[in-house]
Amino acid sequence: MELNNGQKDNMNRSAETQSLESRHLIPTYKRIPVILERGKGAFVYDVEGKEYLDLISGIGVVSLGHAHPGLAKVIKEQTQALLHCSNLFYHPLQGKLAEKLAIFSGLPRAFFCNSGTEAIEACLKFARRYWHSQGDPSRTGFVALEHSFHGRTMGSLSITWEEHYRTPFSPLIPNVSWVSPNDPEALQNAVTKTTAGIVLEPIQGEGGVRPLTANFASAVQEVCKKTGSLLIADEVQSGLGRTGQPFYFSKLGLNPQLVALGKALGGGIPIGATLASEEVAQAVEFGDHGTTYGGNLLACRAALFFLEELMEHGLLSQIEQQGAYLARRLNTLANKHTSIIEVRGSGLIWGIEMRNDATPIVERALRHGMLINRTDGTVVRLLPPLTITEAELDLGLEILDVVLTELDTEVSA
Ligand code: PLP
Repeated sequence: MELNNGQKDNMNRSAETQSLESRHLIPTYKRIPVILERGKGAFVYDVEGKEYLDLISGIGVVSLGHAHPGLAKVIKEQTQALLHCSNLFYHPLQGKLAEKLAIFSGLPRAFFCNSGTEAIEACLKFARRYWHSQGDPSRTGFVALEHSFHGRTMGSLSITWEEHYRTPFSPLIPNVSWVSPNDPEALQNAVTKTTAGIVLEPIQGEGGVRPLTANFASAVQEVCKKTGSLLIADEVQSGLGRTGQPFYFSKLGLNPQLVALGKALGGGIPIGATLASEEVAQAVEFGDHGTTYGGNLLACRAALFFLEELMEHGLLSQIEQQGAYLARRLNTLANKHTSIIEVRGSGLIWGIEMRNDATPIVERALRHGMLINRTDGTVVRLLPPLTITEAELDLGLEILDVVLTELDTEVSA
């Protein structure tokens, strides 16, 4: 087939983009060869104009969908008023955002940063600071869960499970003990009087979308009560309404003193937050922690807009409703395809555990115009925008059904 001039131009742009990156970027990312340049709602478009249904939303970041007109409007207004003023001064938005998060989470205090990993770093520092100010400075250890993912900076890397992430960068922070999730006895043995905090994702995201069980969660609460250990909940991926609950820790009956947030909060504008109980917050003194960009006006404005949508304009109940629909449809899909072992999740975070490596499913979905991703080898992960509609979920499930049918047919042929 003869290509027209427009198609040739687009192909040249694609080749140029890839070639520039390959010459000048530090190669930390193995990219899928698709160049995305615009989006609308649950859809994104590549430079060649191809449309994709986005069921991964920038790994759970684009919470309000792409190019949300309301978010675009407040971002524009803020860029024209004041973008940044440093943390040397007050501005009107940090307190408002912290207040909304306090109402939503029950934790009265916030520290703002720029990413999930920074939110975790602050949790680790504040936990140690707490014990230091309690006159117990040797209480420095952390208990983390196998299959956890908390980020890539040195502290959060130290409590991230997969060895291939950690080994090339050791030595990391010491005194980290690992416990298998859902093994209450192992937890009881690991937590001692030198444990500063237990760190957990209420739903392990990168680890394969694995919710902790209520039984394990009650063991966590019991151990914390017995030993005084702090509890740190990493809700970077599972928090802020994604599960159909404000936070999954409350669904599990957990009472963390520290909570890490990121991803969905800014709807695409980078922002992270560490929430803390009054007691932990009181241990922190001026100058103990800080960051140049944390809580800047632009990020706060975007996050306030997102929280208003979630808490005041019905988004949370919409997620619950769409989540129940998605759960039903995924279970039907699992009954139809023997290649699916299990579907796990809540609200709009789901993992589809396959018998084999999930890579071919992700690749074929891309060809059919849908973005999903693989995690923990055999798991297809879905993290659609929180604004996704039933019709868009129908489309996604249709594509998934076609992809699985094609792959099943090829295997049995
Ligand atoms: N915690 C969890 C549960 C995550 O899923 C991630 C990222 O995927 C992080 C922390 C790190 O967040 P960021 O990549 O914004 O640093």
